[in-house]
Amino acid sequence: MVLALFNRTRHASAEPPAVEPWPETGETWMPEGVTVIERHWNQAMSAIVLVYSADASSYHHVVACLGCHFSAVQDPDSAYSSGLKLTDANRIATQHATGCRALSRAIPDRPDDDSARDQLRKWALTWQRRADKVQIMVSNFDRHRLALQRSNQWIEAELQQLAVDRPDVFAVQRSEYDHTTFYYYVLSAPES
Ligand SMILES: [Zn+2]
Repeated sequence: MVLALFNRTRHASAEPPAVEPWPETGETWMPEGVTVIERHWNQAMSAIVLVYSADASSYHHVVACLGCHFSAVQDPDSAYSSGLKLTDANRIATQHATGCRALSRAIPDRPDDDSARDQLRKWALTWQRRADKVQIMVSNFDRHRLALQRSNQWIEAELQQLAVDRPDVFAVQRSEYDHTTFYYYVLSAPES
């Protein structure tokens, strides 16, 4: 039997959300920067498969297994490469929880700011690209959010700082329309 507990945290009120404990440890894990929406598991000792979202409106979802290293940000059965809707994320998480035989790993520690910054910069600057200049979005880091454990605001601030520190390989552009939206670009490294 696959269980899914709903754990919506975005309430209009200021009341802290009710979070259910992990079934096998009695703990609750809600890493900074994401909303855990569902938890799936197969049996008492099996790994939890999380469905979480990192965007404010919980529009796109990530499925991540806390036992093996499975994660999904897109539906492999879909012809479109847009983000996962909750129904698709639910289906993928259920399928994975049914088949995965891994035990839960230890919950990853929250990295300190220096480690998180180094890791974010590494992901950003090694972003695969086929053109000289490629736009990357904060959502491109969704898959890494359980390791990063930082808010969207933190990531945006770090990307803007990266553009200041490394203008040779990273650029940020402010929207001319609303002046609050930023666009981020990985540039090709200069010839050395
Ligand atoms: Zn797994």
